[in-house]
This record gives sequence, structure tokens and C-alpha cells, in this order.
Amino acid sequence: MKWIDSHCHLADPRLDVLRDNWLREAGDCGVDFFMQGGIGPEDWARQKALSDRYPGKIGLCFGLHPYWVVDHSLDECEGALDLLAREAAGNQCLAVGEIGLDLRPHIAQDSEARQVEVFTLQLELAAMLKKPIVLHLVQAYDLCQTIFDQVFDQVLNQRLDQKADHRLHGFVHSFNGSWEQAEKYLQRGLLLSVGGPLCRASSRRLQEVVRKIPLTSLLIETDSPDQPSDRLRGQMNPLASLIEVAKRVAELKQIDLGEVLQSTRDNFVKLMGPK
Ligand SMILES: [Zn+2]
Repeated sequence: MKWIDSHCHLADPRLDVLRDNWLREAGDCGVDFFMQGGIGPEDWARQKALSDRYPGKIGLCFGLHPYWVVDHSLDECEGALDLLAREAAGNQCLAVGEIGLDLRPHIAQDSEARQVEVFTLQLELAAMLKKPIVLHLVQAYDLCQTIFDQVFDQVLNQRLDQKADHRLHGFVHSFNGSWEQAEKYLQRGLLLSVGGPLCRASSRRLQEVVRKIPLTSLLIETDSPDQPSDRLRGQMNPLASLIEVAKRVAELKQIDLGEVLQSTRDNFVKLMGPK
């Protein structure tokens, strides 16, 4: 057994005193690979240190998170993008992420144009490096599709010769949109990852969407230490909660828990493996 948490933040300093216990608990449940979501240069360095400390368990993922972009000037973002181009090129880096747009008014404020610019540059970088992307999208599912249209269907494919080699691949982390929005991402060949919000009573729409997502396009995640289920509301979200997410998917799709764990593992390996 080796079930996979497709998205978490083990490098978060809040976990320094909890990490060993949480990894042990998750290991007892058969979960022992943890794909990270990158935030910014400080986090990438912490991810690398973790991967040395827990060999074979940590999936490195480097990118500029929308929150990091909001907190930094365009100049600072451009400096970090130069570093990202070098860091993400290494074999150990599985994906470029988490990248995207967070357009909640209290976060976006005056940063929307900067978020769009840095996101677009990171999409182009991922395509050049032929790495999958990990998307963070909040109130931005439709705008992201417009950006895909511009970057992939107009700009990038004219600039690059071998169109097929530069196809978009990756997943949307903690997808929480409508079925119409889900279909657009699936049509582009992206996978959709779901986590703690699926285990909340208030997430009816998401539960209905998960019923319809083909099992071959689904991933599961904790986003630990964030995004707990109702049961853990107000607490930091432990890694072992991945099993709760998998159980909820199994109930909704009326299939075995083992099938959910195996399929989401297979999907992840196929996506991140050598092309
Ligand atoms: Zn995240």
C-alpha cells in the first residue's frame, strides 16, 4: 500500500512539533507519499530539507502561490520567477505549483493584474519545462479558462513548434466549482483534486460534482494543515484525514474505499511520472 495525498503543506513551520506524529499516523493508514504545494522561495527551501529528512515520501512542487504574489511587488515576483525557472527545472521537482488566482475581494484587492501576470508567466514556464501544473483557483475558474485560451491556444502554440509536447497537464487542487466549470477543466485533460471541504455538510454542490467526475480524473488531498472537515473544524488538519476524504468519495460514488485509494494513486503516478 502506498496511498497518495496529492496536496499538502508539510513544510509549514506550524507543523514542526506535529510532523513526525502526523506522518506516523498517516503511515499507519497506508498513506505515505505527500505531494507539496509550493508557496515561494522560502517554502521551496524547506521542502528540499524535508525531502532529505523523509526520503521517498515528499513530492517537491515549486511555484509562486497567489498569496505570495499578493504580498510581493512585481519586481520581487520577477526575481523569484528567475529562481523558479532554475529550481523547477531539476528532476526532483515534480510540478509547478501551486499557481493560480485567488480573487476573493479581501485577498485580491489591487493585485488582480499582478496575479494574472505572474500566473501567466508560470504557465508558460511549466509548458517550457514540460512539467504538470498544480492550480489554486478561488472565484477564478472562468478567468483561468480565458487565460488558458490566451496562453495555450494563441500565444504558446504559435511560439513552440511541437504543439503536442506542450499540452497542458496537471490538476486543480481543492476543486470547488460547479459541474459546468468542472467539465471545462476535464475537457482540457486536467484532473480535479478534492479534500476536506467534501466532508462538510454545507458542500452539497461539491458532493454532486464529485459523483459525476470520472474516477480516472480524480485525486484526493488534505491541504494539511488547512481545510479540515466539519469534524475537525477550527483545528489544524492532520495528514490521516485523507482517509476520511477517500471514504466520502467512496460513499458518493458507491464504490469500495480501496478502489478510491488505488485509482487516485494510479492517476497521480500517471500524471507525475515520466512522459
Ligand atoms: Zn495548498
